[in-house]
Amino acid sequence: EASERESLYLVNEFARDYFAKTLTETEAGKAIGYSYFKERGFTEAIIKKFQLGYSPDEWDAFTSEALKNGYQLSYLEKTGLTIVKTEKQFDRFKGRVIFPIHSLSGRVLGFGGRILTSDKKAAKYLNSPESEVYHKSKVLYGIYLAKQAIAKEDNCYLVEGYTDVIQFHQSGIENVVSSSGTALTSEQIRLIHRLTKNITLLFDGDAAGLRASLRGVDLILEQGLNVKICTFPEGEDPDSFAKNNSLEDLTLYLEENAKDFINFKASLLASEAKNDPIKKAETIRDMVTSISKIPDSIKQEVYLKECSRIMDISEEVLFNTLAQMLQKER
Ligand code: ATP
Ligand code: MN
Ligand code: MN
Ligand code: MN
Repeated sequence: EASERESLYLVNEFARDYFAKTLTETEAGKAIGYSYFKERGFTEAIIKKFQLGYSPDEWDAFTSEALKNGYQLSYLEKTGLTIVKTEKQFDRFKGRVIFPIHSLSGRVLGFGGRILTSDKKAAKYLNSPESEVYHKSKVLYGIYLAKQAIAKEDNCYLVEGYTDVIQFHQSGIENVVSSSGTALTSEQIRLIHRLTKNITLLFDGDAAGLRASLRGVDLILEQGLNVKICTFPEGEDPDSFAKNNSLEDLTLYLEENAKDFINFKASLLASEAKNDPIKKAETIRDMVTSISKIPDSIKQEVYLKECSRIMDISEEVLFNTLAQMLQKER
């Protein structure tokens, strides 16, 4: 219902303002939240631009302020900002720094909250739960601030985390969005597709990041988009890399290391098991599987020829394999 959705937006936007004010205008916010962002290298301007905030480390500081301002408990509960138990109610994001998540048009859909202690039992990031306005499979963090740059550059960088997006902006690269730790969905790709046909995956330099990149590739190809992959040195993510390098070096790194999906798969094989025929056969089959997702048959043929060339296998056997795969899908 439209008016219910509007009420949830209004609650979220009240919360965004409250968290932002807490960050810059309260002692705890300044000492804990603001200094945390500063330590991560965020400037005042970038903190404002992303409307970052801090939720006090008290059970219901936000909830009682919202109630005092006339917001209904039922809406506070529906946005997930307040957790309601029979005896009492408390703040979901208590003691966390806050990353508001915006729609394409800049409304506040929900929040991510990062813990500041090194409490191993608590989740590092908490997100708003699903609601009438927050559907995590349809959300891309940063899209509101990136849309113009994505269209202008005709390319979208896709990263894993909130801080990767923010650090890129701070470096001067604005065509970047994040899937915020969830597996990439076709709805998210459709959102990007409205702005460009080119996606470059920039995932963390760890095993999880690699798996996530590989999962995303076929989904992107399926929608007829072009996909490149650029990995980071082990232990680095786009945030740390951008923080530790100049814009020039970052840009150069992205240019030199972004590989078309087929070359990316070939380079993985080369780094893992150059001379293992079984692994090589698996890689070729995997490449043809990806090629089979491409809706454009001219592109399919171009990629098959490329695959034949770099993997040193006949075009004929590749065409036959592709034909078999397409046959089975029907
Ligand atoms: P940081 O640099 O602040 O440690 P990060 O973004 O590098 O964070 P990763 O561990 O690489 O964190 O995770 C990528 C993204 O996955 C996060 O930005 C967040 O959106 C999501 N995420 C990470 N850990 C959790 C968690 N425990 N629960 C829910 N989402 C998570
Ligand atoms: Mn990671
Ligand atoms: Mn990371
Ligand atoms: Mn990180």
